[in-house]
Amino acid sequence: MTGSETPRAPRVSFVSLGCPKALVDSERIITRLRAEGYELAKSHAGADAVIVNTCGFLDSAKKESLEAIGAAMAENGKVIVTGCMGAEPEQIRDAFPNVAAITGPQAYESVMAAVRQAAPAPHDPFVDLIPEQGVKLTPRHYSYLKISEGCDNRCTFCIIPKLRGDLVSRPAVDVLREAERLVKAGVKELLVISQDTSAYGRDLRYASSLWRDREVSARFLDLTRELASLDAWVRLHYVYPYPHVDEVIALMNGGNVLPYIDVPFQHASPAVLKAMKRPGNQEKTLERIRAWRAICPELTIRSTFIVGFPGETEEDFRLLLDWLDEARLDRVGAFKYEPVAGARANDLGAETVPDEIKQSRWKRFMERQQAISARKLAAKVGKRLEVIIDEGGAQTAKGRSKGDAPGIDGTVHVATRRALRAGDIATVKIERASPYDLWGSAV
Ligand code: SF4
Repeated sequence: MTGSETPRAPRVSFVSLGCPKALVDSERIITRLRAEGYELAKSHAGADAVIVNTCGFLDSAKKESLEAIGAAMAENGKVIVTGCMGAEPEQIRDAFPNVAAITGPQAYESVMAAVRQAAPAPHDPFVDLIPEQGVKLTPRHYSYLKISEGCDNRCTFCIIPKLRGDLVSRPAVDVLREAERLVKAGVKELLVISQDTSAYGRDLRYASSLWRDREVSARFLDLTRELASLDAWVRLHYVYPYPHVDEVIALMNGGNVLPYIDVPFQHASPAVLKAMKRPGNQEKTLERIRAWRAICPELTIRSTFIVGFPGETEEDFRLLLDWLDEARLDRVGAFKYEPVAGARANDLGAETVPDEIKQSRWKRFMERQQAISARKLAAKVGKRLEVIIDEGGAQTAKGRSKGDAPGIDGTVHVATRRALRAGDIATVKIERASPYDLWGSAV
C-alpha cells in the first residue's frame, strides 16, 4: 500500500432473522458498524466477519438460526452470533465450536467488541457516512420504533422474559426524539413495537420527561398522543386488552394514529388461557372488542392464536371457533403449538395434542377465519381508501391501507395514471377483493 492509499474499510456481512424487534436490534448494530467505519458486504465470502442475529423463539426459528450460522461458517468462518438464541450459547457451541463470539439480545457493545477483534476497525471512523436516522433495514418510508424491551408477564409457552428479562421502558423523550429524527429523515409510518405495548412505562412509574416544551409522561396514552403530533402514521403492535387501551382507541378516529390494533389473543377458551397464563382480562375480550368498535367503527383488529396447546380439548377448540365467529377479527395468524425448550408449558403435565390433530385444528381455524376475512375485505369494494405505497411504479404500484401492517397483512394492488413512489399516500378506489388482498385505481 502506498502512503496516499486509504486503507480498505473492513466489511461485515449481516444476517437478520426473527421478529420486527430483532430487526430493530439489527439496525442498531449496523448503525454502530457504519459509525465505526465498517462497510456492509453483500456476501459472506467477501466479508471480514459475519454477524448472525438469531431468533430463538420457536424450535423452527432455532433451526433456521442454526442453518444460517452453518452457512456463514462454511462460507466465511469468522462468525459472531447475537440475538435471542445467543442467550443459550451451549446449543450454538455444541453445533459450531469455532464461532468467533456469542452474545445475547441487545448486547450491542459485546457485538461491537467481537467485531473489532475479528476485523479491526479503520483509524478514522467515517461518522459522516451515517444517514441522520441511522441505517435502516426496512424501506425508508416506514420504520419500527421500539418503546420497551422485556416483559413482566410469564406466559407459559414463552421464553422471552427468560431471554430478555423484565420490562424496561425507554423514557418518553428518548422514544419521541428517535421518532422525530425518523420523520425528519423521510419516514411516513412509525410501527410501535415492544413485547407488551400497553404496559409501557409501568417500570418507570410513568415518569415524565421533557420533550420540546412540555413534560410527557411515560404512559401508553400520552406517548401515542405525542407520536401522533409528528407528521407520520402511527401503527400500534402487541397491545394487550387492558382497560386503559380504550382511551388509545379514541385517538384512532382521524389523525395520525391508525385505526389498527394488533392484539395477540392466542386463545379464547378460559381453561387454555389459564394454562397459558395470559395477561389482560382475557374472559371479557368480546366485550372489549365491542367497546373498541363502538369507539372507532373503522378499527382493524389483527391477532395471533396458538392451536394445539397442551391440554386443549376439542371443546376448547370449538369454543375458540365460536369466539372467532363472534369477534369477526380482520386479520389473523395462527401457529401450531411448538414445545419451546425451557417453556413452562412443557412441564404442566397436560396431555400433548398429537401432530395430526394440531394440523387439522389449524386448518379448520384458518378456513373459518378466511371466510370472515373474505367478507370483511369484500365490504371494502367501492370504498376510497388511503394507501401508503411500498413499491412505486408508473402504471401499477403496491401498497397498504391503514388496515395493513407491512410483512404480516395484505397488499393493495394499485392501477395508476400518475407515477407513484414508495412513501406516497394515494387515495385508491377499491374494485376487487380476495380474502387477503385488495385491487383498485388511484383517483
Ligand atoms: S406477554 Fe407473554 S408471550 Fe408476550 S413476551 Fe410476555 S411472556 Fe412472552
